[in-house]
Amino acid sequence: MGTIKENLDRIREEIEKACQRVGRSSKEVKVLAATKTRTPEEILEAYQAGVRLFGENRVQEAREKIPLLRDRMPQAQWHMIGHLQTNKVKYAVELFDWIETVDRKELVNELVKRLKRTGREKVSTLIEVKLSPEESKHGCPPEKVEELLSYTLEFPEIEVLGFMTVPPYYEEVELVRPFFIRLREIRDRMEEKFKRKFPELSMGMSHDFVVAVEEGATIVRIGTALFGPRRY
Ligand SMILES: *Cc1c(COP(=O)(O)O)cnc(C)c1O
Repeated sequence: MGTIKENLDRIREEIEKACQRVGRSSKEVKVLAATKTRTPEEILEAYQAGVRLFGENRVQEAREKIPLLRDRMPQAQWHMIGHLQTNKVKYAVELFDWIETVDRKELVNELVKRLKRTGREKVSTLIEVKLSPEESKHGCPPEKVEELLSYTLEFPEIEVLGFMTVPPYYEEVELVRPFFIRLREIRDRMEEKFKRKFPELSMGMSHDFVVAVEEGATIVRIGTALFGPRRY
């Protein structure tokens, strides 16, 4: 592993090459730093290297870190990328610019309520789709996406910009490709159903982001390839 800057440069190069292979513009692809377990200093280093999107998995950890970093990272955009419990939404609407893990109506209702209470006009969101059969994974089942989307789009304060997924882990990355294709196809179907664009696809992590970019990712969520192995 190199420095965070060197790692970021290498990741961007691989994104560039993947885009060239499939004829996309690499301007469409944003690197989000997945910062769970990372210290404020490491996160600041990623910001100084040029990262602008940051993702935390847990509200508690985000409450400890984001307020310390806000002033030093004025252009950072914070995304919630972990499962969001309803009772944590009141903190989430104060911490995060985006919620990438909207997966049920109850969460939509709570977001609407808490946005009103904090006087915040709206929040950018993605619908998290559960494409992995693993019990531990969260997200809206694919067959319920249309219903959840139809419900969510009734609330102007919840801006749905696209979809997110966490596929199962396979050593062989080609085995992950079908999951990325499925998310893109769900997006395409929903665009047709609702006659509107859902431009963002948040998919791909350290070991499979190249394949995700080939299949249309606009946000890749990178932890270990940027910061090194997690300490816990
Ligand atoms: C940790 C995490 C990532 C990044 O994982 P790496 O394999 O370290 O790149 C991406 N997305 C989510 C939801 C995560 O929890």
